[in-house]
Amino acid sequence: MSFDRLLFGTAGVPNCTVKKNNPVEGVQKIHELGLDCMQLEFAHGVRMKEEVSSALRKASYELGIPLTSHGPYYINLNAREQDKIDSSVERIIQTAKISDLCGAESMTFHAAFYMKDSPYDVFDLVEKSMNVIEERLSRLDIEIELRPELTGKTSQFGSLDELITLTKNVMSVKPCMDFSHLYARTGEYNSKEAISDVLTKLEGEIGKDALKNMHIHISGISSNSKGDLKHLNLKDSEFNWKGMLEALKEKDCRGYVICNSPNLEEDAKMLKDYYLAI
Ligand SMILES: [Zn+2]
Repeated sequence: MSFDRLLFGTAGVPNCTVKKNNPVEGVQKIHELGLDCMQLEFAHGVRMKEEVSSALRKASYELGIPLTSHGPYYINLNAREQDKIDSSVERIIQTAKISDLCGAESMTFHAAFYMKDSPYDVFDLVEKSMNVIEERLSRLDIEIELRPELTGKTSQFGSLDELITLTKNVMSVKPCMDFSHLYARTGEYNSKEAISDVLTKLEGEIGKDALKNMHIHISGISSNSKGDLKHLNLKDSEFNWKGMLEALKEKDCRGYVICNSPNLEEDAKMLKDYYLAI
C-alpha cells in the first residue's frame, strides 16, 4: 500500500462500539469517528469465522479503512521447548493467514523473550524462524509485512537495533515502531530531536521506504528501571507525543499510527487532530 500521509486508528475496535466483539462494527465506528484505520487484535488467539473475515474485508474496502493486525501474546521464538517454538511459528502463520483474508497488509507481534540468554543467540533463533515463516507464507502465496514490535520490556527481544538488523536480513520483515515502548525501554527518546534522530537512522539503515511505509504504535506509558510498563492515556503520561508527531511530520513519514492507550479512539483522535494542525 502506498500512503500520502500518516493514518490514525485504534488497537482493536473503538471503546464506543456497541458490540465490542464485532470487528465489522468497529470498522464502521472508525469511519464514523473520522479516523483512518484499525488494528485487529488477536491477543488471546487467532480465530475468526470466514464470514466475519470476508465481511471485514468488504467493509474495510468500501469505507476506505485499511486494517493491520497484532498476533497473540503467547509467542516466544526463544522458548525452552522446541514444540513451543513450533507453535509460536504456527501462531504467526495463522495470524498472517487470517490477516490476509481480512485484507490487512501489515501485521505485528512480540517475537521472543531473552529468557536470560545472550541477545545474539536469541537474534539468530528469531531470524531462523522468520526465514521459515517467510518461506511458508510465500508457498501459500500470502504477501504480508511481518513486523516484530519494538517492545517495551528489557526482558523482551525487540530493541531498535535488533529490529533494524532483522529488517536488513529477512525480506518480509520491517519494524513495528512503538515509540512509547522505545521510551519505556530506554528512558530516553522523549524529545522531537531524539525521535528525529531515530527516523534518520531508520532511513539511513533500511532505506527511504522505511519512512514512507510505517507501522507505528503509540500510547501513554509509564515505566520503571526494568522498562516494565503500564499503558496510560496520553494526558496522564510523560511521553512527549507532540514532539514525536512533529518529528514524524517534519520527515514526511507515512503509514499507520495505531493508538493503544486505554481510551483508544480519544487519544487516536487527539493524535490525528494535532498531526493535521502542525
Ligand atoms: Zn504489542
